Amino acid sequence: MEIIEKLKQANLRGRGGAGFPAWQKWQMVKDAPGETKYVVCNVSEGEPAVAKDGHILEKWPDIVIEGIKLAMEEVGAKKGYLYLRHDYFDKFKNALAEIIGARAIKIIREPGGYLGGEETALLDSIEGKAVEPRIKPPFPPQEGLFGYPTLINNLETLYFAARIARGEYKNTRFYTIAGDCACPGVFERGESLTIKEILGKTGNWPKDEFFVQAGGGASGTIMLSDELEVPLSGAGSIVIYNKAKTDPRQLGLKWINFFINENCGKCVPCREGVYRLREIFSGEPLDIARAQSIVKLLAAASFCPFGKGVANSIGSLSEKLL
Ligand code: SF4
Repeated sequence: MEIIEKLKQANLRGRGGAGFPAWQKWQMVKDAPGETKYVVCNVSEGEPAVAKDGHILEKWPDIVIEGIKLAMEEVGAKKGYLYLRHDYFDKFKNALAEIIGARAIKIIREPGGYLGGEETALLDSIEGKAVEPRIKPPFPPQEGLFGYPTLINNLETLYFAARIARGEYKNTRFYTIAGDCACPGVFERGESLTIKEILGKTGNWPKDEFFVQAGGGASGTIMLSDELEVPLSGAGSIVIYNKAKTDPRQLGLKWINFFINENCGKCVPCREGVYRLREIFSGEPLDIARAQSIVKLLAAASFCPFGKGVANSIGSLSEKLL
């Protein structure tokens, strides 16, 4: 059975956050016309409190390279790129270069920043341009790196593609658990567990009242402790906050300052919206209705997923805790 069919049967979905079926992306690039195609392994992992890709790189770098090579062979790409967060580059470059050997896989050092993980910003970054998202369509499988069809997969996705090809996939995924908990770290557990089950099975269900941020450390959704009987989406992270020890307004301000630093400034709703949110969160009295109207605008009109991530975290925080 060919690997794309195996990915389909395993129902492997992208593990970078969007959850797109892996086999469909592979098939699109394979079917795209032309001789020149690329594969990019995205190891930007810029979301705070997400550490799973670094964990996989540390433990199984050979399987990651195997996954990239497999994807290149399947879609017909003669060249691959391994796009590494700057500290991962410094830490793993030599070991990875040894494993890669003579294979046509180039290791790239991400220039830094949260937005480098957005797939089209990542392509511009590899091309040496400013790290800004592109308009879509065309999507990377149609027109990606240097204008050619490009398969971009998160590192965990390619790692599990290699495991599937080996017949070793057990329907698991990696979860990063952080914050006010007994056993923070990266855990491999069943992919369809609920958040409540993940916390229980890793010994991290808190004794005190708490809430979590699920799916990403900055852009993830705020969820109360009685809302956790649902599967985890996004990049697989859960940050636990002790309710008594956490000031939600200060938490919101911390994220807003993060978003102000990390947005690229390309579109008005996000560039201006994050500043207006800071004004609101810093002012007295706290105008929640105005914050919610900006959040709605960010969700509806931002150019790229960054602005929608701001809306998701600040919107859910405002709605549930303020
Ligand atoms: S949403 Fe934010 S990060 Fe995305 S293009 Fe607009 S300004 Fe840049």
